[in-house]
Amino acid sequence: SSIPKIVVLGAGYGGILTAQKLQKELNYNEADVTLVNRHDYHYFTTHLHMPAAGTDSIDHTRVQISKLIDEFKIDLVKSNVQEIRLYDKKVILEDGTLSYDYLIIALGGEPESFGIPGLAEHAMTIRSINSVRLIRQHIEYQFARYKMDENRKDRLNFVIGGAGFSGIEFVAELADRIPGLCKEYDVDPALVHIYNVEAAPTALPGFDPELVEYAMDVLKKKGVTFKIGTAIKECTPKGVILATDEEIKSATVIWTGGIRGNRLVDAAGFETMRGRVKIDEYLRAPGHENVFIIGDNSLMFNEEGRPYPPTAQIAMQQGVICAHNVVASIRNQQPKKFVFSNKGTVASLGKGEAIATVGTKKFKGWTAAQLKKLVDMRYLFIIGGIPLVLRKGRFF
Ligand code: FAD
Ligand code: NAD
Repeated sequence: SSIPKIVVLGAGYGGILTAQKLQKELNYNEADVTLVNRHDYHYFTTHLHMPAAGTDSIDHTRVQISKLIDEFKIDLVKSNVQEIRLYDKKVILEDGTLSYDYLIIALGGEPESFGIPGLAEHAMTIRSINSVRLIRQHIEYQFARYKMDENRKDRLNFVIGGAGFSGIEFVAELADRIPGLCKEYDVDPALVHIYNVEAAPTALPGFDPELVEYAMDVLKKKGVTFKIGTAIKECTPKGVILATDEEIKSATVIWTGGIRGNRLVDAAGFETMRGRVKIDEYLRAPGHENVFIIGDNSLMFNEEGRPYPPTAQIAMQQGVICAHNVVASIRNQQPKKFVFSNKGTVASLGKGEAIATVGTKKFKGWTAAQLKKLVDMRYLFIIGGIPLVLRKGRFF
């Protein structure tokens, strides 16, 4: 047919918001929309630290994509994208090929290992439902194995590399989970050690120093040991080696040291910085009027010339504008410039504890923890209305 083909790659924060907005704005038979995702579910990346530690269920962390979009209006294709061919406007899937007139790349990022030896082989990462199920099982297995050989105290050491928001949120959940695990496996809690190793001179570099101090106090009280200003320089089957040559023996290394753009974006031939493409103010890839890149694969700068950090918040806002601009282009109308509206930052510190900044206001403790719940619920509401809030929301 002659109607334009729109292909959206990835059904994460950016992809889902794009697809939903397209489905709302497009008229009948105005365009064909296809949404490609490797799973038939959408998962809440911002919630993954909980099922990873075992403090919440997988069920609370994902929803079937078919519940979020209208399959009469959008073709849902469950497949792995293998290649993006810009020169002939095609996307190669593991089991077929799609051609497009408009392409939206929303494939999300990948862990950045900075070439640190052994990380890819011996560390685990908090990236997907599959990766966090592995982490949860692995942690429980270490407790079980320790009971079979109590000489292996390293099985009760847990190393988290990187104290950015992902690292901090995960150690908080893990610390909350340890007492329960100790009880279940008859292990003396004094034998368990959680190490959070951070290369920068402070945890949560760049965040409000007073709140960082508060967060570290909360986590230290929960039993976390921080190694700040100390980089991990190698990961081995026995644990990690720090820049100081100190070794921490551990059967569990979780890498939260940063993320980069998707390898498919590099492979497509875009000019990238750590896998991310500097897009224009309409969210288009340079030199490609019909290719939009949003979320963790895109790079945008604020007025001070600093890149916006890759967050769910910006990915969602980009999704809405991106869909609008694709529709505008089809209708020969003016596209909208993307302007990021920062709603603030909330980081959980485990049960009943969090830190937050909203504008110039700071929140901590119980109030911030309520804010975190509100942010999560707001997201469920945006993508699935009240029914999704009721089905997936955490009220307590
Ligand atoms: P994603 O949401 O990662 O979605 C990408 C989608 O593409 C996925 O569904 C994936 O399965 C699919 N996909 C990938 N490759 C392929 C392929 N080859 N073929 C087919 N499908 C593929 N940000 C916040 O703003 N607030 C928070 O509180 C927050 N908390 C976080 C907590 C954790 C533990 C982590 C890890 C991140 C957190 N973030 C948070 C960051 C946020 O999750 C990301 O910035 C956001 O998910 C990016 O959205 P995206 O649409 O670019 O990609
Ligand atoms: P990040 O890049 O923000 O943090 C990684 C940390 O690892 C940094 O502090 C870095 O100094 C450290 N590091 C790097 N190399 C190291 C080494 N060799 N040894 C020790 N430490 C090392 O990554 P992230 O925490 O995964 O966050 C990714 C993005 O997702 C960010 O934009 C973040 O804002 C967002 N996010 C937000 C939230 C939230 O808002 N609650 C939660 C999680 C993630």
